[in-house]
Amino acid sequence: NEALSRAESLIRTIPDYPEAGVLFRDITPLLADAAALRTVIHALVEPFAGEFHVVAGVEARGFLLAGAVAMDAGAGLVPIRKAGKLPRPAASVDYALEYGTATIEAHDDIRDGMRVLLVDDVLATGGTLVAAHALVERLGGTVVGTAVLMELEALGGRTLVGDVHAVFTA
Ligand code: 5GP
Repeated sequence: NEALSRAESLIRTIPDYPEAGVLFRDITPLLADAAALRTVIHALVEPFAGEFHVVAGVEARGFLLAGAVAMDAGAGLVPIRKAGKLPRPAASVDYALEYGTATIEAHDDIRDGMRVLLVDDVLATGGTLVAAHALVERLGGTVVGTAVLMELEALGGRTLVGDVHAVFTA
């Protein structure tokens, strides 16, 4: 697919960011291109069309995609935020980072029986999306799918997260 290939070519690879040895995938040039943005939003939604009530986007770059995905699919949007950012969190999940731990939280706008599509920009080790999945379930929601713009295959996140729809793989 030509439009998808063109969109993929707009993802910029930046060596040694945010620290030495890391090859960072920068999606901002893709986001800035109207045709590429529309193409990847459609591609994120496609396998799950009609199957979910809300999109849960993971802070911060997941937010950039989740709002557009929600509009495209006729669904609502629930932000999954880093600890301390939401005024009335209803659930939280702690997870391990390379150094230390992190916590994510969400409001109770995800409720019993709600069908949720999880969206983030990049799947790396998978820790973030595993935690997000647990958070949705703690609120009573059902994760109908997980969609990312790019999967970094070498980091093996898929073995943790399970079935992930990745628009691009690297
Ligand atoms: P994981 O928990 O899968 O190791 O890391 C995924 C999280 O880190 C995602 O929320 C993603 O935004 C961020 N991340 C890790 N590596 C990259 C990268 O190369 N590019 C971008 N844009 N985000 C990354």
